Amino acid sequence: QSKAGGRDMARFFTPEMNERAQTRLRIESSLRHAIERNELSLHFQPRVDAQSSRLVGVEALLRWQHPAWGAVSPAQFIPIAEDSGQIIAIGAWVIARACEQHATWRRDGVGTVPVSLNMSVLQLRDGDVVEVLSEALRMHDVNPSDIEIELTESNLMDAAENSLSQLHALKALGVVLSIDDFGTGYSSLNYLNRFPIDKLKIDQSFVHRMLEDPTDLAIVRAIVGLGHTLGLQVVAEGVETPLEAGTLKAAGCDELQGYLIAKPMPPDELARWLAKRRETADDAA
Ligand code: C2E
Ligand code: MG
Ligand code: MG
Ligand code: MG
Repeated sequence: QSKAGGRDMARFFTPEMNERAQTRLRIESSLRHAIERNELSLHFQPRVDAQSSRLVGVEALLRWQHPAWGAVSPAQFIPIAEDSGQIIAIGAWVIARACEQHATWRRDGVGTVPVSLNMSVLQLRDGDVVEVLSEALRMHDVNPSDIEIELTESNLMDAAENSLSQLHALKALGVVLSIDDFGTGYSSLNYLNRFPIDKLKIDQSFVHRMLEDPTDLAIVRAIVGLGHTLGLQVVAEGVETPLEAGTLKAAGCDELQGYLIAKPMPPDELARWLAKRRETADDAA
């Protein structure tokens, strides 16, 4: 019986599948040492007020520099870290680093820069993420309202009751909660209402297509309308051109993020970027 099953497996296990599985395994085993070997870092991407163009915060984005492979994209390694459970430790590292960086910028006179970080729903389900976050806030003396948590819509829908209570516990710490990649999952208005969220981030696929496809523009407008009806702020990400920015502003988006404003940068570069912006603003005044 089991032997026949094995033969069936072998028949369907094509060379390409085998290679993919090998790659996953290699990533998983290298990732296990990535934190201790200092291969992880955070880059930060500015987000601005759509009306005033003032900086409203930065998003922390995880970077993995492997000694042999070079930069590995989070889009590739995060799902593997989720499958292997390593996301719990990596996620805790991101929380600590993001809070530490916020405190460092404040200490160095760069300013009070609100930081948002991406959190996997698995951290809500399996980890002691509420304790990890409250400890990081305390340790670095960070005002909770200066930290924002981004949770991806698609996973959030699968969240069980326990995740919902964790979400409420996070909210009770005083942090800002937002739903990332909004519009790509299966939202129901019911759950949007039940979740203690503050913001929606429109998925960048809509932003990239909205100038060519009227349906995507209609979706962008609908998300803004929905968000505002529910009392939520609406953020657009992946903004690459002035025309996109103008369209999003006209649609009523509250905040903009994307390469048009700036790419994700290491902390020092972000500090220089901020200083340069301030200079330009002073020159204008
Ligand atoms: P995300 O949270 O939706 O982040 C936005 C992604 O879009 C980032 O890719 C960013 O670099 C990229 N991006 C920003 N502006 C533009 C633009 O104008 N055009 C285009 N084409 N792309 C833009 P990145 O850094 O590769 O991250 C990919 C995804 O990996 C993130 O999507 C997030 O889901 C996940 N991720 C990143 N860091 C973390 C983390 O610390 N924890 C968790 N759980 N997930 C993370
Ligand atoms: Mg995000
Ligand atoms: Mg996103
Ligand atoms: Mg994403």
